[in-house]
Amino acid sequence: MIWECEWCWPQVPGELLLQPRVRNIPISSSLNSIHWDKVGEAFSTTRAFQGIRARSSIVAWHDIVWHPKRIPKHAFSLWLALRGAHRTRNKLLAMGVVQSAMCVFHCGETESTEHIFFQCPFLAKVWREVLSSCNIPRPILPWVDEVQWMSTHAKGNEFQ
Ligand SMILES: [Zn+2]
Repeated sequence: MIWECEWCWPQVPGELLLQPRVRNIPISSSLNSIHWDKVGEAFSTTRAFQGIRARSSIVAWHDIVWHPKRIPKHAFSLWLALRGAHRTRNKLLAMGVVQSAMCVFHCGETESTEHIFFQCPFLAKVWREVLSSCNIPRPILPWVDEVQWMSTHAKGNEFQ
């Protein structure tokens, strides 16, 4: 397609689909090479990913999920909770996966995100113990306020 530094297209009636797209690309007489983004820039998977992904705005709870000492499994579970994406029994019942949405801790309530964080009496007791073990003397807050409290007080590896 390139012959003696010029585009050279096969003789066909009409124009090939590719021709308008490459018509204004300058042809260099130097050796061919592959670059990413700009001439002279080496390819990297990170830069390719950054180039093709859609960036979202940074959320307030970013630091409590993606802190340097995170345990990936815990970070993922917290991220699901913050996105309201845990498959709680009320959602599974709506999908026909389970026959009952009752909380598995037998408190008599429907299991939902709000219930497990921390309206369920059993899970509220567990959370109170966690707070106590971490020397955090405060009552349990609604989930949104728990997230806000943690975002405000967790800086680096410590609570403030
Ligand atoms: Zn419960």
